Amino acid sequence: MVHITKRILTFSEWQILSKIMAISIISVALLILVILGYFMPLAEQKMLAGKKEGLKNVVDTTYGMFQEYADLIREGKISKAEAKKQFARRIRPLRFSENSYFWINDMDSTMVMHPIMPELEGLNLNDRKDSRGNLLFQDFLRISKAHGAGYVDYMWAKAGKEKPVPKLSYVRLYEPWGWILGSGIYIDDVYEDINQLRLFLLTSVALFATLTITLAVFIGTGITRPLKKVISGLQDIAGGKGRAGLTKRIAITSIDEIGLLSTEFNSLMDAINSLAVFKNVIEEDDSLDEVYQRLGDLFTQMIGIPRCFIFQVISSKSKLELTYPGRFDQEGMMCNQLILDDNTLCKAKRTGHVITSTRFPAICRQFKPEAKEHHYCIPIMVGGATVAVVQCLFPKQDSQTEVKARETKLFKAEQYINESLAVIETKRLMNSLKDAALIDPLTGLYNRRYLQEYTEKIVAGVLRRGKSIGLIMCDLDYFKQVNDTYGHHAGDLVLKETARTIAQNVRDSDIVIRFGGEEFLVVLLDINDGESIDIAEKIRLKVQQVKFKLPDGVIQKTISLGASEFPKDTDTLWSCIKYADVALYRAKEEGRNRCVRFLTEMWTEDQI
Ligand code: GH3
Ligand code: MG
Ligand code: MG
Repeated sequence: MVHITKRILTFSEWQILSKIMAISIISVALLILVILGYFMPLAEQKMLAGKKEGLKNVVDTTYGMFQEYADLIREGKISKAEAKKQFARRIRPLRFSENSYFWINDMDSTMVMHPIMPELEGLNLNDRKDSRGNLLFQDFLRISKAHGAGYVDYMWAKAGKEKPVPKLSYVRLYEPWGWILGSGIYIDDVYEDINQLRLFLLTSVALFATLTITLAVFIGTGITRPLKKVISGLQDIAGGKGRAGLTKRIAITSIDEIGLLSTEFNSLMDAINSLAVFKNVIEEDDSLDEVYQRLGDLFTQMIGIPRCFIFQVISSKSKLELTYPGRFDQEGMMCNQLILDDNTLCKAKRTGHVITSTRFPAICRQFKPEAKEHHYCIPIMVGGATVAVVQCLFPKQDSQTEVKARETKLFKAEQYINESLAVIETKRLMNSLKDAALIDPLTGLYNRRYLQEYTEKIVAGVLRRGKSIGLIMCDLDYFKQVNDTYGHHAGDLVLKETARTIAQNVRDSDIVIRFGGEEFLVVLLDINDGESIDIAEKIRLKVQQVKFKLPDGVIQKTISLGASEFPKDTDTLWSCIKYADVALYRAKEEGRNRCVRFLTEMWTEDQI
C-alpha cells in the first residue's frame, strides 16, 4: 500500500498572496470575534440597563405629581377624594412611548385606573395570575411594601393584543393614599432596538471585512503579478528561450519597491535584448575586422567611452595590429608604437588581465606618462590566448560621479565583449580556413587568389592615403636547370629559400605573393614615386648572395626583376602587374640578373 502524505507547508513556504490573505482574514476574524463576543453583548446590556433606568425615571417623575395634590389637600383647596379623581384623570392619557402607559392599583390589589383595560377598574386582582402562573399583583404589593418601589417582570398583553408577552414594570407606592403607580416596557420593544443595533454592527463588520479582503487581494496581486512576470522572464532567460523570451516587459504601475523592481527588470531585459541583437548583427558581419569595427563604434558612440583603440594580436608574427579606429591611425595612439612590432610589450596581451591606470597610474610602461587620460585595457581571450586588446581611454577625472559613470560604461563594454567572444572565435577559425586557401603551401606566401580577393581594399587604402603601390615581378634565372641537375626536391628548396629572402627584405606591410611556378610578385604599399626599382635592386642583390644548401652541394642563383608603379603607370592594378611582367621580360632579354623599370615604350602592339 502506498501512503501519500501531503506535507503541510510552513508559513515561509506560502505564496505571498496567501500570506497577505491569511493575515487579513485573521485580523478580520479577530475583529468580528471581539465585536460579537464582547462589544455587542456589552452594548445590549447597556441598552437594557438604559431602558430600565429610563422607565424608573419616568415613573419617578410622574410620581412627583402626588406631591402637587398633597399640597392642594393640605391647603384645603381640594378634598382627598377629589384629588384622587383628578390625579387619575391626568395620569390616564400619559404615554412615554408607543406601548407605555401608567396604571394605578391600591393596596388591596384593586385596579384604580387602567387606560388600556378600563374593564379592570374596580376589580380586585389579588389572585390574578399571568400566563406563567405568577401572582403579579401580589408581587407589586410585596415589592412596594418592602422597598417603596421596584421592578417586577411578568407576562402582559399589549394594547389591542390577546397574547401576553414579557413585560418589565416599575411600581412605586404612594403611602398617604395607599396607591401603587406603575408603568412598564415590553421586552420585545427593547429587543427591537437592540436588534437594530445588532444589524447595524453586523453590516458594518461585513462591509469592513469585504473591504479589507478586497484591499488585501488588490495589494497582494499588485505585488505578485509583477513578481510573477519577473520570475517567468528570468526563467525564460535561464531556460534559453532566445529572443522571443527577451521581449517580456512589465507595465510600471507604482513607484514603490515593486515599481523599482519592474524598472530594473525592464532595463535588464533591454540590456540582454540589445546584447542578443548585437550578437546577431556581428554574426552576419563578413570579417573579424568588421566585428572589431562594430565593437569600437558601439563603445564610443553608444556606450559613450570617450576614446577606444582595439589591437588585434597577430600571433604568427608576435605583432599587434591597430584594427580600430584603423590600421593607419597610429598617431592618436597613447601607447608606445613599439607594441605593434612586439606584442609582448603590451601588458594586457601578456598577462591576459585588465590593465588600468585608475589605481596605479604607471602600471603599464608602454602608456605615455604625459597622457591626460586613464587607460583601461581589456584583453579579449579566446581559448586561453589573448586575441585582441580593447583599450578604453577616459579623461583623468576622479569625482565620485565620474568614477561611477566610467564603471557603468566599462561594465557594459565588458558585457558586449563577452557576448562577442563566440563570434570572434568562429570568425578567427573561418579566417584561418580562408587563409589556408589563400596561402601557398610550399613557400607560406600568399597566392594569386589572395591578391584577387584583396585588390579592391589594397587599392582603396593606398589611394585614400595619396600614396602609390610598387609592383615587382621576380623570376629566377635558369631555374629549370636546378630541377634538371639536382632534382625537383632541390628545386623546391631553392624556391622556399628565395621566398624567404624576398619576404625578409621588404616591409611587413608589403605583400609577397607566389605568382606562378618560380615567379614572385612583391606588392609594395605606400611607396613614394620611383622607389620600386630601388627595392627591386635590393632584392636582386640579396638573392644573388644566398647560398642554397642542397643535399648534393651548395649553389647560388640569380634573379631578374621588373618593376612598375600604380597609379603612376596605369590606373588599374592588374594592368600595372602586367607592366611589371613586361619589364621582367625585358630584364630577361637584356641578359638576366638585373632590374628593369617599366617604361611606356616597352608596351608595344605585339605584346597586346
Ligand atoms: P628563365 O626564367 O631564366 O628564362 O629560365 P627558367 O629555366 O627559369 O625558365 P622557365 O620559366 O621556363 O622554367 C620554370 C621552371 O620552373 C619550369 C618548372 O619545371 C619549374 N617549376 C615550376 N614550379 C615548380 C615547383 O613548384 N617546384 C619545382 N621544383 N620546380 C618548379
Ligand atoms: Mg625562370
Ligand atoms: Mg618562369
